[in-house]
Amino acid sequence: MMSEDLFLKIISREIPADIVYENDDVLAFRDVNPQAPLHVLIVPKAHIRTINEMQPENAELFGKLFLAAQEIAAQQGVAEDGYRVVMNCNSAAGQTVFHVHLHLLGGRQFSWPPG
Ligand code: 5GP
Repeated sequence: MMSEDLFLKIISREIPADIVYENDDVLAFRDVNPQAPLHVLIVPKAHIRTINEMQPENAELFGKLFLAAQEIAAQQGVAEDGYRVVMNCNSAAGQTVFHVHLHLLGGRQFSWPPG
């Protein structure tokens, strides 16, 4: 349900977050349980539960999440060394918040394959 969408509450400032980037379509804030020195969640302001609900008309919006990642990575000084972007979908991938979000992780070495 939309009313249970935690990230909509962050977007509306009902719940506080450490916001690092915002534009008309996108908000980005630090993950409350960081998995790397830099761990930012980049979310569309529109309510989209998972990648499975993405529509063709959302294609530009999803592109804007990546442009935000590019900008934040540069701003936070990890662009040259490298960083990882991840979007989990549903339970097998470990999605726990059902409002799509791009994880931007940086500031350390990452292994592949992921766990
Ligand atoms: P997922 O597992 O759905 O891909 O990622 C959800 C992420 O949201 C997790 O990394 C979790 O730490 C983060 N998270 C959950 N609740 C909050 C919150 O209230 N504030 C912030 N900033 N991050 C949260």
